[in-house]
Amino acid sequence: MTNVVDTTPELRTRISGEVIGSGDAGYDDARSVYNAMIDRHPALIARCAGVSDVQAALDAGRKAGAPLAVRGGGHNGPGFGTVDGGIVIDLSPMRSVEVDPGQRTARVQGGATWGLVDAATHKHGLATPSGIISTTGVGGLTLGGGHGYLSRKYGLTIDNLLEAEVVLADGRVVTASESEHPDLFWALRGGGGNFGIVTSFTFRLHPVGNVVCGPTAWPVAATSDVLSWFRDFLPAQDDDLYGFFAVMTVPPVDTFPEAFHLHKACAIMWCYLGDPANATEALQPVRDMQPAFDGIGEAPYPGLQSAFDGLYPRGLQWYWRGDFFGTVPDAAVDAHARFASELPTMHSTMHLYPIDGAVNKVPARDATFSQVIVGVDPDPANAAAIKQWTVDYWDATHPYSAGGAYVNFMMDEGQDRVRATYGNNYDRLAEIKAIYDPTNLFRINQNIQPAG
Ligand SMILES: Cc1cc2nc3c(=O)[nH]c(=O)nc-3n(C[C@H](O)[C@H](O)[C@H](O)COP(=O)(O)OP(=O)(O)OC[C@H]3O[C@@H](n4cnc5c(N)ncnc54)[C@H](O)[C@@H]3O)c2cc1C
Repeated sequence: MTNVVDTTPELRTRISGEVIGSGDAGYDDARSVYNAMIDRHPALIARCAGVSDVQAALDAGRKAGAPLAVRGGGHNGPGFGTVDGGIVIDLSPMRSVEVDPGQRTARVQGGATWGLVDAATHKHGLATPSGIISTTGVGGLTLGGGHGYLSRKYGLTIDNLLEAEVVLADGRVVTASESEHPDLFWALRGGGGNFGIVTSFTFRLHPVGNVVCGPTAWPVAATSDVLSWFRDFLPAQDDDLYGFFAVMTVPPVDTFPEAFHLHKACAIMWCYLGDPANATEALQPVRDMQPAFDGIGEAPYPGLQSAFDGLYPRGLQWYWRGDFFGTVPDAAVDAHARFASELPTMHSTMHLYPIDGAVNKVPARDATFSQVIVGVDPDPANAAAIKQWTVDYWDATHPYSAGGAYVNFMMDEGQDRVRATYGNNYDRLAEIKAIYDPTNLFRINQNIQPAG
């Protein structure tokens, strides 16, 4: 077996992208990921410019027996886009987006971020479901499932995946779709990075242009009333209306009147996808709840998608925990009200995202909400405090959960939690893993271990 560092000269001749080792300028930037709580030192980072670069980097990793981390957008909470002592296969140079407006599809390279996709598809009045921050990677978000403003109407990101080009653990390049390698296609849609390196995704697009969207907010003391109303109201609405509930501290930005700045609050971020002429009627029940702040207006969809980018730049400390919920019983509402009043830092928050509507038209899905509690702060000195608040908050609401969590909202929480999340699908995923990655080469992830 070759030493991983010794693979560098050969790899440099084999790939057209950069190979960055610990002695190279730019190493600290290249090894960093979005979550600054993650501080790992890979042996080298291979910035891949195309499929053959990915194959060469994979080959080098296999020969060296080195741990391999695959990086899309680098947003993963537990930092699976990097690894101590191993090789990072960094797909960030692979970010092209090709839209076919006639077919209503987009072919997206594996290292693109969602902002690039939204910008390219919006030119044609089209979009596909994704997350709420435009700097998030297409790769990790899609392979974990992907939910956002379009999900009640058009499903998860994976429900709109038509095809993936995948570099397998043995170096072969295959297409996975309903008709080619359908077992792999099934496993990719939620199985994270366990089954191969996806070099391109082809998505179905939907007509989405301008949307009526924005926040309504109430004082934190209203959390119980607003959350109890929201949990009953939203699931009863048409799929055109989307809203996620949040507990937060109002940031000191122009969007909000100065009187609200730095006050703790509860809020709902809305997105109405129906005819804008009908939005006032659809949102009247929200106004009947007398929000203290109403920032709803019409905006281009990419504007909504990047609304939180400025608040959450790369380089903050993050610790998060997730859970699925069927509903939010009164006892859980009480817990939310308590922890909302104890938000430890301005950036820390809890989001309760609806995943009903079109998401639940897929058999075996039945959760109504995907919850994430996130402790966030720029200062590493606050890392322990934000983690403690997150864990305590999670402990208080977890007993009411439907079981398992969205895999993209988990930290490194161990095998039992991975199994709980995949539930009845775990065994089939493990069998497919044994076919496509029998030696568990792709293990820096929420790991599904090969059967047998
Ligand atoms: C600020 C913020 C907001 C978020 N909002 C949402 C949201 O609204 N909705 C939502 O669904 N999720 C959301 N997420 C969670 C997000 O989906 C995950 O963090 C996801 O892992 C990010 O993907 P990435 O490609 O950026 O991450 P990375 O760290 O690059 O990768 C994450 C995992 O996916 C694997 N991977 C990435 N790309 C590929 C690829 N091309 N082929 C094979 N494996 C790959 C990696 O190996 C790793 O295991 C959010 C995250 C953050 C930090």
